[in-house]
Amino acid sequence: MVSVVFSAAVGGIEAQIINVETDVSDGLPVFNMVGYLSSEVKEAKDRVRTSIRNSGISLKPKHITVNLSPADIKKTGTGFDLPVAVALLAAYEIIPYDILKDTVVVGELSLEGNVRRICGVLPIVIAARDNGFKRCIVPKENALEGAVVEGIDVVGISSVTELIEVLSGDSPLPIIEHKEVVLDGERNYDLDLCEVAGQLIARRAVEIAVGGMHNLILSGPPGAGKTMLAKRIPTVMPFLSFDESMELSRIYSIAGLLDSNRYVLTKRPFFSPHHTATVPSVIGGGIHAAPGAVSLAHNGVLFLDELPEFSREVIDSLRQPLEDRKVNVSRLNATYTYPSGFMLVASMNPCPCGFYPDRTKCTCSPVSIARYRRRISRPILDRIDLFVNVEKTDFRDIVGGTRGEDSRSVRNRIEKVRKIQLERYEGTQVRFNSQLSGGLVEKYCSLSEPCKKLMEKAYDSLELSARGYHRILKVARTIADMDGTDHIREEHLTEAIGYRGFV
Ligand SMILES: [Zn+2]
Repeated sequence: MVSVVFSAAVGGIEAQIINVETDVSDGLPVFNMVGYLSSEVKEAKDRVRTSIRNSGISLKPKHITVNLSPADIKKTGTGFDLPVAVALLAAYEIIPYDILKDTVVVGELSLEGNVRRICGVLPIVIAARDNGFKRCIVPKENALEGAVVEGIDVVGISSVTELIEVLSGDSPLPIIEHKEVVLDGERNYDLDLCEVAGQLIARRAVEIAVGGMHNLILSGPPGAGKTMLAKRIPTVMPFLSFDESMELSRIYSIAGLLDSNRYVLTKRPFFSPHHTATVPSVIGGGIHAAPGAVSLAHNGVLFLDELPEFSREVIDSLRQPLEDRKVNVSRLNATYTYPSGFMLVASMNPCPCGFYPDRTKCTCSPVSIARYRRRISRPILDRIDLFVNVEKTDFRDIVGGTRGEDSRSVRNRIEKVRKIQLERYEGTQVRFNSQLSGGLVEKYCSLSEPCKKLMEKAYDSLELSARGYHRILKVARTIADMDGTDHIREEHLTEAIGYRGFV
């Protein structure tokens, strides 16, 4: 008998429905699996056979052929174990076939017959729903991830035995109750910007950076509170929307980072890879073409603490995701695309000892300072809009106990600035001032005569590059938006020039 069971394969952040066709006939007892399979999928037949046997079911040796189609999609991962087992049980007429017609099945099997968690349940359940299926059978451990999707039943299964019972109708389908995604914003964060005492200049720079989604470098001596400040940046970003939450949760689902405590992401990520991180861990890749740090920071902050300590390759590899807001990850003969719309925040010491320009403490030679800074490549520096010096907090600020403005107040202002940009760039690809390029900079950052003169002077005296010149205009655009004015004025430019940093 031939049976068809539906499953799904994940590619990028989308999933596609896969047909698992099984033919069982008399003849030489063999078990063939075909259909452009990776080695893990080919190994499914051993896990499936053993786990069915260890669930107390003996299948008569027959000629078994399993075909996974469409043939042009490479099937990877271990999620096809369960659908193959179901297809086999249906073909042997151990379970009824009818219910399977509108069901998608995914899950890995252990040799004892338990169903194990897999990666990518969320995109799979979404794909199943979008393709008109009524239910999705998934590993119980992953079920909550899928239960956030409306309009489809998610069934959590923990063993082959349980599966046979429910599919035979001996016990009711264990449908997981639909989980409403609650984006409750404020209570999500256990940090707040008010905990940063003093630091008025750095706080202002953070507000500008988030306002226009400008990338930011915090430079300052050790202990100045660069990391403390950076960690609070997501708390001033506008709250995650439902669509953003789903997009981010898909990425975390594919990366296998969701569990019963965190089955959906409701706050903006702050992702901070260690400086020993490799290119695949930052960009994405590895055996399973998993999303990297740039995608795990999507819709949030990618923080590189001590930027010059990162390898040159890692820093250079950030160029493409920064430019395109998405990243292509290749593996064997497949390429996956993951979103990477993050805000880059990096911290660094201004010199090897950390105390430059305080010459009473800094003992570094100009040559060693120059060498240290050269470790950050030009192409990345070209993509950083704001450089800010974070001074060590004034003793009076700490002792005086004056708390800074809280995240909510700052976020309220940022939301207004974001709205101005969304309206201005409506109908274009641009969402933030930082995304302006070439002719668009000229168009949206037009300057009055006095402003032009000011910039001309700055261009010559500061030896600006064309890119550097544009960066100043974009930051000034954001500062003018914070001021609620259409026209960039001299004071906006002067402030923006102040964040130009050492390049
Ligand atoms: Zn130094």
